[in-house]
Amino acid sequence: MSRRLAIDDALYDYLLAHGTRETEVQRRLRAETATIRGAGMQISPEQGQLMGLLVRLIGAKRALEIGTFTGYSALTVALALPPDGRLICCDVNEAWTEVARRHWDAARVAAKIELRLAPALETLAELRAQRQDASFDFAFIDADKDNYDAYYEHCLVLVRPGGLIAIDNVLWSGKVLDPKDRSTDTQALRALNAKLKDDQRIDLTMVPIGDGLTLARVR
Ligand code: CA
Repeated sequence: MSRRLAIDDALYDYLLAHGTRETEVQRRLRAETATIRGAGMQISPEQGQLMGLLVRLIGAKRALEIGTFTGYSALTVALALPPDGRLICCDVNEAWTEVARRHWDAARVAAKIELRLAPALETLAELRAQRQDASFDFAFIDADKDNYDAYYEHCLVLVRPGGLIAIDNVLWSGKVLDPKDRSTDTQALRALNAKLKDDQRIDLTMVPIGDGLTLARVR
């Protein structure tokens, strides 16, 4: 079997210390989010670091986020976008996104971010109706799992060929493996993972970072 590294707390701290470059505002946002219910939904610093690098690598200018929570991933993506870059964020929670807005202001990236407080499927349908097909370079899907497939199909149209769709929580704490777990979230993730494996519309890799991150490059 090829080598697979077990990362204990000490090695994880080393990874964070040497492999991430969090800004002061990112650190403050992480600290504030840790005090609220649902804190586990925030992406990890090393996942943010990877996403920021990918945004820079593909030269993204227009990005889309489905599921913003308290705004850490959006902050990370916005910091990686050029000054004239734009990020559209979809979320439905006023309280969580109020935390996000404060930190986007503090990091001086608020002008790059447009938050749309509405069900993401409505926002995505609007973007489609406005003929914004193939106008995005990057999309991050991290919201309600039962709609993941619908989000993915919208993103496939909205992201340009050569652009990237990142899909979070694809390993779902290992629950995708448990046949006894028939919850709608788990079944939705299992079905999407199976579909993407051979989806000829994308190139993909599944990265064991955070709770599992699928990277899908639109063909
Ligand atoms: Ca997530």
